[in-house]
Amino acid sequence: MMRLPQFRYRAPRTVDDAVAWLAEDPAQSMLLAGGTDILPNMKRRQQTPATLIGLRGIRALSEITNGDRLTIGAGVSLATVTGNTRIRQGYPGLWQAAVQVATPHLRNMATIGGNLCLDTRCTYYDQTHEWRKAINFCMKRDGDTCWVATSSPKCLAVSSTDTAPMLQALGATVNLASSRGSRVVALRDLYANDGIHYLTRQPDEILTTIALPPSSGWRSAYWKLRRRGSFDFPVAAAAVAARLDGSTVADVRIVLGAVASRPVESERAAALLRGNQLGDALIDEAAAVASEVAKPMDNTDFELTWRKSMVRALVGHALREIRGDDMRARRLQLARQELLIPVAHHDDAPPP
Ligand SMILES: Cc1cc2nc3c(=O)[nH]c(=O)nc-3n(C[C@H](O)[C@H](O)[C@H](O)COP(=O)(O)OP(=O)(O)OC[C@H]3O[C@@H](n4cnc5c(N)ncnc54)[C@H](O)[C@@H]3O)c2cc1C
Ligand code: SF4
Repeated sequence: MMRLPQFRYRAPRTVDDAVAWLAEDPAQSMLLAGGTDILPNMKRRQQTPATLIGLRGIRALSEITNGDRLTIGAGVSLATVTGNTRIRQGYPGLWQAAVQVATPHLRNMATIGGNLCLDTRCTYYDQTHEWRKAINFCMKRDGDTCWVATSSPKCLAVSSTDTAPMLQALGATVNLASSRGSRVVALRDLYANDGIHYLTRQPDEILTTIALPPSSGWRSAYWKLRRRGSFDFPVAAAAVAARLDGSTVADVRIVLGAVASRPVESERAAALLRGNQLGDALIDEAAAVASEVAKPMDNTDFELTWRKSMVRALVGHALREIRGDDMRARRLQLARQELLIPVAHHDDAPPP
């Protein structure tokens, strides 16, 4: 059984207390929300903060405010997000992303803020301490080599959050509070393409709220590839938000998940779609262009060239769903992995 290392636990009731306590020793402190990521990481000694500052007692972080913009507190659970009617109806892509995170039990604990700040993942890193010690660790923690690309100067661990690409496509902003004050940043600016320093959030900052622009006129869809249809981290994902004028694309954002150390937006694919009718040929062309920015590495599930080819399929599915096509059968197929898992070819066996 893996045990947690020793740590000091502090439980603020207000954001002011939380930022003040975090400011005392930001380098050795970490925030605990639902704990569904950080606690397993601590058991594996991937993260070993001296102090954990628990956010669950801060009521202000657990509110959803229905104003002109929809504001979601960072401490709102994913179960609450998926149960919220305004989110389900106005931002269906966010609902689809949140409902595919982990399992119902985990979504009861897991928060949307924790999901946005989720640690990057890698086959060589998400292992026990003993396993990582046996390979002399890696650059992300305790070592100096990246085993995925030994000449790489930086860690290439994968951004594996489901809600971040969708919220980025929806044009979300986040509020970051510290004892120095607060600042609002576009969600796209919260991320950096570096597996170790994947957030631009400063160590003394707390993500307090996520704000979404009005949803009127916008449609959204989230498609995710994972090993198990019941629950699993994404190994490729497409988040698309679009405003249609009849069948013409007035505006669109396409963001890919799990193909780099941050969510990756395809401006070229969006430019191709804007001002044009969402026909099959254009969808296929835009999906192919979008997949060009996906640079998956061999550090997560499935074969990487197949994952890249699946990005193209996922973007196409999302665009068709936004157009109004009935994609339920295709979603079911994806969940069951029918037709999608490549079958191994052996020299002595005929191709399937
Ligand atoms: C079996 C299993 C399956 C999973 N499957 C998925 C999946 O399919 N998709 C997916 O996206 N995730 C998945 N997860 C990961 C995790 O459950 C979710 O990402 C969850 O949303 C994390 O939220 P949390 O509140 O538990 O975060 P925590 O574990 O509490 O924190 C995660 C990180 O965010 C930081 N943090 C938390 N809140 C804040 C804040 N307000 N401000 C700044 N930093 C903050 C913490 O310090 C920590 O670094 C899975 C986990 C497990 C165990
Ligand atoms: S990408 Fe390289 S440095 Fe980063 S976790 Fe994986 S092996 Fe380690």
